[in-house]
Amino acid sequence: PLVLGIESSCDETGVGIVRGTDLLTNTVSSSMDEHVRFGGVIPEIASRAHLEAFVPTLQAALDDAGVTLDEIDAIAVTSGPGLAGALMVGVAAAKALAVATEKPLYAINHLVAHVSVGLLDDNDELPDNLGALLVSGGHTEILSVPDITGDVRLLGATIDDAAGEAYDKVARLLGLGYPGGPAIDKAAQNGDPTAFRFPRGLTAGKYMGSAEKPGSHRYDMSFSGLKTAVARVVETYEASGQPVPVADVAASFQESVVDVISRKTVLACTENSIDTLLVGGGVAANSRLRALVTERCNAQGIEVIVPPLSLCTDNGAMVAALGARLVAEGRSATGIVFTADPGLPVSTVSMGAA
Ligand code: ATP
Ligand code: MG
Ligand code: FE
Repeated sequence: PLVLGIESSCDETGVGIVRGTDLLTNTVSSSMDEHVRFGGVIPEIASRAHLEAFVPTLQAALDDAGVTLDEIDAIAVTSGPGLAGALMVGVAAAKALAVATEKPLYAINHLVAHVSVGLLDDNDELPDNLGALLVSGGHTEILSVPDITGDVRLLGATIDDAAGEAYDKVARLLGLGYPGGPAIDKAAQNGDPTAFRFPRGLTAGKYMGSAEKPGSHRYDMSFSGLKTAVARVVETYEASGQPVPVADVAASFQESVVDVISRKTVLACTENSIDTLLVGGGVAANSRLRALVTERCNAQGIEVIVPPLSLCTDNGAMVAALGARLVAEGRSATGIVFTADPGLPVSTVSMGAA
């Protein structure tokens, strides 16, 4: 099926078009530049930007794919989780398009859509025993994906800041600007990751438990204590009038984030029979994260897939890919009577018809 996917859960307005598992276009417009001076995504600005970007992005996607709206078999849209106002713009646009073109509309889960990029191009089928690690500005989750359209489970998640959010906040403390991820990644290349021993959130014994008696946060992560620890170090240097060793702090911070994420991921995979891990989200761009997750997973016989970055960050192609799979399986469409759900759980792959 020829499916058009719409994404607007955060600061990217994405329109993707797929034919089955073939990617025809992945057109994205981001309002990131408008958030730079605030050091983080401002929901109202993101919503307004979606409103302005939607029609041009849609037109560009149709042109790029060389298809007309008439030829489309179905429309898919992210209905959650995400920023309420941002989601509402994409959902309203998708409903309007569905009504105007008389096409079926599927309201789908953003996180599951991230995983569905594994279906694109040469990968018509997802591996058995698949897991996913999603790390971005708004999410840090470990999922088990026995069946992408029927059975997706949340194994662990951050209990406070998302990994990308921690990068952004720490970059701000270090005066590195926004977005913080790429800036810290770069600064860390010249730093010593062992210069400071920052805390590893939720890895103490009581949170981990044992294989027989798992702790209550066994696969969960936490980054707010780490952020506070970095702030203390910066304050101490500033109080003593000494320059902050930015590269060393960046490298040591990054090592803590990546150590926690990779340890929790390996644990979740080995204890849940996951032997292939797909990594998604903007933080998948991090060189140290890719290296350590791959090294530690491979050591346990877990294969790691990192899709091209344009499919890791938020985009419409992933939404189209999941929509196409639902259509191919003959699943019924959601219709236009539904509301965006900022807290949509991963178990809801696609919203049911009202
Ligand atoms: P969502 O959470 O809904 O997926 P988002 O817009 O917050 O949306 P992305 O656009 O996927 O997330 O990713 C942006 C995040 O990725 C930012 O927090 C940014 O700092 C981080 N990031 C980007 N490049 C890197 C990098 N090389 N290392 C670490 N973090 C990075
Ligand atoms: Mg983004
Ligand atoms: Fe995302």
